[in-house]
Amino acid sequence: MLENLSPQPADALLALIKLYAADPRSTKIDLGVGVYRTGQGATPVFGAIKAAEQRLINTQDSKAYLGPEGDMAFVNALIPYVFGAAGDKSRIQGMQAPGGTGGVRLAVELAKSAGVSRVLMGIPSWPNHAQIFANVGIAMQGFSHCAADGTADMEALRNAIEGAGPGDALLLHGCCHNPTGIDYTVEQWSEIASLVSSKGILPILDLAYQGLGQGMEEDAAGLRTVLAAVPEALVAYSCDKNFGMYRDRVGAFYVQSADAGQLEAIFSNANALARASWSMPPDHGAAAVRIVLEDEALTREWLDELDTMRARMRQVRDRLAAAGTVGGIDLTPLAHQNGLFSVLPLKSAQIVALRERHGVYMAGSGRINIAGLTADNIETFIAALGDVDEG
Ligand code: PMP
Repeated sequence: MLENLSPQPADALLALIKLYAADPRSTKIDLGVGVYRTGQGATPVFGAIKAAEQRLINTQDSKAYLGPEGDMAFVNALIPYVFGAAGDKSRIQGMQAPGGTGGVRLAVELAKSAGVSRVLMGIPSWPNHAQIFANVGIAMQGFSHCAADGTADMEALRNAIEGAGPGDALLLHGCCHNPTGIDYTVEQWSEIASLVSSKGILPILDLAYQGLGQGMEEDAAGLRTVLAAVPEALVAYSCDKNFGMYRDRVGAFYVQSADAGQLEAIFSNANALARASWSMPPDHGAAAVRIVLEDEALTREWLDELDTMRARMRQVRDRLAAAGTVGGIDLTPLAHQNGLFSVLPLKSAQIVALRERHGVYMAGSGRINIAGLTADNIETFIAALGDVDEG
């Protein structure tokens, strides 16, 4: 029976990790893997999380099942950060999910159950988005996310929305677009909110990097603008970057419903979908995040750590942008892009040359992890880019 399974293509980034590990050069630079790194190249556990985990070990007296919705105190503690501290939250409810991925999966499955037949999405996007759509069995209509000048392609977005209506969803990255770093401006978010609302399209908002772009509040502003304009929307949230929880799979899924009375039926569906997929989300990481959010001093420590990360990435972006055009690549747009990633419009041959001649490892798409660059390697990287100019 199992001989019917044909091999699937290997994950390109995992293959890149192996190549990087096998490279003996001490000067090699890893811009592939999508995790934050300090100026020393480490991805440490947040101090606030370490303290919360210690507290959790000392106080947790049971590991009995929690249920498909997970740790609701964690889910609710995030609400003011995502949706804003003020205002009526009676039409908003959430549940825990295994990472932002679990949140996206649940959003797409629930949208399909509700009768959504197509998702519109700017391309390129996080590769798993399209894989989830295909896996769930929902059609995707892609449109270009990036204009030639390194800002969002609003014309393509308008055209896509023009041909859409009820029964369609639009997936939007809340901030720190992966892979391009190209986020919408405040004005563009307002336009998107009114277009989506006038067309009756269901927004699916994926917020996986809150606090890594411009700030916790700023990074949620677009999402909130959309939510204020539409009756209903789905939100997938990840704590894996902004709390450094990656392998602990900490995420949540929220619904804004048209009417508070609909939430019970909506979440009975979401719970049933979760039961059939992962039954219950992993507890440990979400419990640690909850402890941070319930403690004022730990919350302050976490926000300080997040500020440090954001400032470091901004510094790297500013240094790259200050280099101007290098190797035929205009680096200036990187200054106004956000988060861990940007895409350099390099040809495949240049990406291979960067790897083979200079030990610079990046995805085949030209996506670079901004946090892979440090004071020790950034000048080497800029010089390497200049060396692979193909004219
Ligand atoms: N959405 C986007 C846009 C992402 O980039 C990622 C992670 N790379 C996720 C969701 C999923 O995050 P998690 O690791 O929490 O599943």
